Amino acid sequence: MKVFITREIPEEVREKLIGHDITVTEWTEKRDLKPEELIQYCKSHDALLSVGPNKINRPFLGACPHLKVIALNSVGYDNVDVAAAKELAIPVSNTPDVLSKATADTAFMLMMMVARKALYWHKTIMDGEWGFFEPMKETGIELQGKTLGIFGLGRIGFELAKSAKGAFDMPIIYYNRHQNEEAESKLGAKLVSFDQLLAQSDVLSIHANLSKETMGLFNKKTFAKMKKEAIFINTARGGLHNEDDLRQALENGVIAGAGLDVTNPEPMVPNNPLLFMKNATVLPHIGSSTFETRMAMIQLATDNIIAGLKGEKLLTPIW
Ligand code: NAP
Repeated sequence: MKVFITREIPEEVREKLIGHDITVTEWTEKRDLKPEELIQYCKSHDALLSVGPNKINRPFLGACPHLKVIALNSVGYDNVDVAAAKELAIPVSNTPDVLSKATADTAFMLMMMVARKALYWHKTIMDGEWGFFEPMKETGIELQGKTLGIFGLGRIGFELAKSAKGAFDMPIIYYNRHQNEEAESKLGAKLVSFDQLLAQSDVLSIHANLSKETMGLFNKKTFAKMKKEAIFINTARGGLHNEDDLRQALENGVIAGAGLDVTNPEPMVPNNPLLFMKNATVLPHIGSSTFETRMAMIQLATDNIIAGLKGEKLLTPIW
């Protein structure tokens, strides 16, 4: 059995696969594969471990119907045509739970950085402006007791809510299509309408998956319904917000600040105005980037490959 992996993997993970008599081919170039290259490699392999932004769409799946398993090294699967995978009976897995805390921590960090203008102050030192002290210049805001709104209170949203509650006693409101009973009973989270979420949040953090329903949902119209003191955080997918509308909302004081771990498009160009704004902090999609979490993700993805190649049930199947 042979697996194609779209990145280099840690030695111990490679050894584990080899120990199961699986031949490993890793993509070692420092660029993403072109769709036709991905097809070409997968045609001569039995399984795909997909790391990075590969499109597992209908043309790809149609060209590789022989694949016994596709394991994603991410929890988000907006890059996968699940209906096509089902039609072709190709099992697909993702990496839920193991990355929830690290990603929630990234949202928490962005919330703190934007609230205290940390990146702006860092840049003033680099610009030689650490001089005359003005107590009321570019002050931040307290988070204690402020309302945290969560759009998509699932695994990651829950971890953020827990941290925000513990650190700043922030009341939690959320909007999901279904009630999250655990968040309500353990954290006192309150389900509200989408418009109430926009109107009542001091910090609005986005954690829903990207879908037809959520694409571009945070735009000129929705930013206008938010408090002008509000902070917008997106660690989910850049496709959920309209970036021009967000920039304008920040420039015109429609909202107070934004923290992004995901951008639209990715990668963000180096001269994007958001990178030079006092009230914005942007990170290059590092949500799950801790050593412990990235190891746990690749190990889980690998275990899914091993299970799939043995014809066993996947540990964390998408379908
Ligand atoms: P999850 O447990 O499935 O949570 C997603 C939540 O979104 C669910 O509670 C779901 O609730 C809600 N939701 C989905 N569609 C919705 C809609 N149309 N309207 C309102 N709520 C909706 O997923 P997770 O593990 O927390 O991950 C969430 C997302 O984070 C992933 O899909 C991924 O895109 C992103 N992510 C980013 C990074 C990063 O590096 N920045 C890392 C990991 C994950 P209902 O079904 O009740 O609506």
